[in-house]
Amino acid sequence: MRPIVVLLALLGVLADRSPAADAADLPLFDAHIHYSRPDWDVYSPERALSLLARAGVRRAIVSSTPDDGTLKLYEKAPAVVVPFLRPYRTREDMSTWPRSAEVQAYVEQRLQRGVYRGIGEFHLSVGDADAPVVRRFAELARRDGLFLHGHVDEATVEKLLTLYPDVRILWAHAGMSSSAATVGRLLDRSPKLWVELALRSDVASGGTLAADWRALFLRHPDRFLVGTDTWVTSRWEDLQQSMRAVQDWLAQLPPAVAENIAHGNGERLFPSR
Ligand SMILES: [Zn+2]
Repeated sequence: MRPIVVLLALLGVLADRSPAADAADLPLFDAHIHYSRPDWDVYSPERALSLLARAGVRRAIVSSTPDDGTLKLYEKAPAVVVPFLRPYRTREDMSTWPRSAEVQAYVEQRLQRGVYRGIGEFHLSVGDADAPVVRRFAELARRDGLFLHGHVDEATVEKLLTLYPDVRILWAHAGMSSSAATVGRLLDRSPKLWVELALRSDVASGGTLAADWRALFLRHPDRFLVGTDTWVTSRWEDLQQSMRAVQDWLAQLPPAVAENIAHGNGERLFPSR
């Protein structure tokens, strides 16, 4: 295509977007950002922060492998970054951490900085929910008022809620594949559970908010957060588009509910210090 044709096509796309939809764009609290070692060489902290800002993200929960990435962003923008301490020094820790005394020491030592608002994001299987390091993290979370951010399936999140009923849990990806009905049942059951929706394109596949998710957001408007999950470096380039899709389904909710899910819940759970 000649440049002028491309330009005209682009203008056509822009014209399709109604002014009302743009006017409704909400500030966002992104509950799922990583800034891990492979990202550091590609995006400086300044560049990563500007990508967040361009996507409309005002504040974000950030964790990383290793944790130094989180601190790099936090030092540049303490008002933007809500630091979570990920218990992985390298990706090798991903499956072994629940029983690793070394990981426990790494986390306990770093928590002494006093900047963290949660432990995670971590992966965990149901058989490890009561492993020694998990039990210790639950104790630390209770002691310091931290969230546990778990990328776990519904059986595991239910076990965590049973084993550690007074610990606040942020459930990553709503279990990745759990149904709205299951998420609703767990939210009804536990006042300590919050749910983030990173990578859940099924909430509004094809752009239309699904009826069952919509009903659940209306029933529990104070328990959901949006998120991106920059789990590989290329996801940083998708940020703007991914949040565009989120804005489009938020616009299908009553404004007060949309504001809660876009940023209000995050602001309330993680007040600026
Ligand atoms: Zn993640």
